[in-house]
Amino acid sequence: MAGASPEFLAKYAMEAVPRYTSYPPATHFHAGVGLADWADWMSRQAPAPQTSIYVHIPFCKTMCWYCGCHTTIPNRHDRIARYLDALDHDICRRAALAPADARVCHIHFGGGSPDMLRPAEFIAIMNRIRTRFTVEPDAEIAVELDPRGVTPDLCAAVAEAGVTRASLGVQDLSEAVQALIHRIQPRATVEAAADMLRVAGIRAINMDMMYGLPGQTCDGVTATARALTDMGADRVSVFGYAHVPWFKKHQRAIPEDRLPGASERFDQMMAAANALAEGGYEAIGFDHFARPQDPLARAARDGGLRRNFQGYTTDPSDLLIGLGASAISECAQGYVQTETDPVRYAERVSSGQDMLVRGVARTPDDYATGLRLADLLCRFALPLSPDDDLDALADMIADGLVRRMGDQLTVTAAGKPYVRNLAARLDPAFRVAAQQHSVAV
Ligand code: SF4
Repeated sequence: MAGASPEFLAKYAMEAVPRYTSYPPATHFHAGVGLADWADWMSRQAPAPQTSIYVHIPFCKTMCWYCGCHTTIPNRHDRIARYLDALDHDICRRAALAPADARVCHIHFGGGSPDMLRPAEFIAIMNRIRTRFTVEPDAEIAVELDPRGVTPDLCAAVAEAGVTRASLGVQDLSEAVQALIHRIQPRATVEAAADMLRVAGIRAINMDMMYGLPGQTCDGVTATARALTDMGADRVSVFGYAHVPWFKKHQRAIPEDRLPGASERFDQMMAAANALAEGGYEAIGFDHFARPQDPLARAARDGGLRRNFQGYTTDPSDLLIGLGASAISECAQGYVQTETDPVRYAERVSSGQDMLVRGVARTPDDYATGLRLADLLCRFALPLSPDDDLDALADMIADGLVRRMGDQLTVTAAGKPYVRNLAARLDPAFRVAAQQHSVAV
């Protein structure tokens, strides 16, 4: 494939560009934004806003060496219990600030591993959310789960709480790779988790896999993608491992001499895409795949695809309320993020301090740019604006990665892996040091 030429790999794949799950990107967040700003912004929302809630559970049983999430390993369950007390307060405080007529149509539990909660704890959080917010009867309620922590009791609880979609982290099914990333998880464990969820009535199942991990090969990535197809995943996300040991210290345990290079990463990404295409999945954006009948694939076909902190989504909400440590909230006026350390988060919430410790306000121009870049990442096409710097696009056009027809830019098949590079060239605020972002592929 043309996009895999050594010249393009050197030029584009290794370029550090934002993921554009927010605009401005989270690297622009600063400490000058907090609860008072959020309260002010909430008073300026349109009537009855469609609203999304994100709940962060920052706990895991063991640390995977590749992990890029905000998580900790609690030695005893009372640490989780203290966090949940604070989360309960947080839900009440943030609900009191939210527009009284907000309609919640999406709820997402992420982490960490939400399966670290006891069944009754999960139900209690959902009950608190339902009593403090108006949750639409057909709301999508999704939960991320570590297959190793899934039990019949937990599945019964999340089903009782109204969960409609589960997302299982798989990454790579090769034993050798699993040993190198400190995540031993046989295929049978993933199959059993999917079966337990389906028996409990949760039939929509996403699975995540990765490329670029130590010891990974194209054959191994292909085998993992085929296994996910066989297990009947409705959606598959394929993420490239971001090696940032200066930022995530546990990644120092990753043997760097076993990490694939740029060319191997590209080949692994394509191997996953090809195996999933052969399995009947449609490519959604640059890193998601879905069965044709899945709502994400339908949204991609009918123009309803959106982008948020989870990546590609069907969630149409303009208001996102992030609850728990490190959670990000979003509205047209800006972003706020809660304290990332779970202990400090709990102290702040319990003592009545401001738990929103950073964020960024956005201008109407920022908001419009964010929508425009998200549209590009969803559709691979965009009308040019008079403010676009055409010189910045010249290399991608000359290299055949982007085509210009009049005022219309279209990303070519060879250019799709590099759509984030194009977004960065169209981003007027892309002035951030390269090392703050992950490589494009
Ligand atoms: S289970 Fe997920 S969140 Fe937890 S350590 Fe592993 S990768 Fe990180």
